Amino acid sequence: MTTIAQQLRLVQDRIQAACLTAGRDPAAVRLVAVSKTFDAQAVSEAVLAGQWAFGENYIAEGVEKIQAMQRTQAACSGLAGILEWHCIGPVQSNKTRLVAEHFDWVQSVDRLKIAQRLSEQRPAGLAPLQICLQVNIDGGANKSGLAPEEVQALAGQVATLPRLVLRGLMAIPEPAIDFVAACALHASAKALFDQINASGALATPMDTLSLGMTADLEAAIQAGSTMVRVGTAIFGGRG
Ligand SMILES: *Cc1c(COP(=O)(O)O)cnc(C)c1O
Repeated sequence: MTTIAQQLRLVQDRIQAACLTAGRDPAAVRLVAVSKTFDAQAVSEAVLAGQWAFGENYIAEGVEKIQAMQRTQAACSGLAGILEWHCIGPVQSNKTRLVAEHFDWVQSVDRLKIAQRLSEQRPAGLAPLQICLQVNIDGGANKSGLAPEEVQALAGQVATLPRLVLRGLMAIPEPAIDFVAACALHASAKALFDQINASGALATPMDTLSLGMTADLEAAIQAGSTMVRVGTAIFGGRG
């Protein structure tokens, strides 16, 4: 039976190999382990194997796990404060306070109103919330995210909110028929990212392009992803 530690190692090897193929420094691609639907025990196993950034889609489930891990960390002082939690699922207005109070990153911002609430509700004692704007890069019908042409304006607005730091863009391209097609989809997100940074509209350029999951992380890294979000390959199928 493979363990979470072994599967995590395989994912790290995939990232390393993809970076080598792409001629990129493996240190330039971060791994967020997507622990949605898996329990705090699974997260603990990954932490023991050296993983510290985790992604959650469902707010209530994520907050419960964050709090469970904080209790574990309090009992084990070496771990205190090292975990980093990424909200990667849709955020409704009535959930912004929970998100602002518990997560470190929100990668799924696609409306100014949500960004404003997150900024207002971010507790003063915590570091600013790190933000990625979600882009619907291929116009997928049932997907949230900004249309590509809307991204620059919202980026400019989010960058001015006091308790947020705009870090970059996140996208979830539709499954592609092959590697080349997947690369092309991811490359369009990279092009948008580069175009906004080059426009000079932001005082501080974005540094994070969150692209790539279990099925397409190689294509994403080839296209320039700096952060892959991987669930299934680490924790197993979600049924
Ligand atoms: C579930 C999810 C992932 C992880 O997907 P896998 O295919 O299990 O690796 C990544 N990003 C988002 C936004 C997700 O919802």
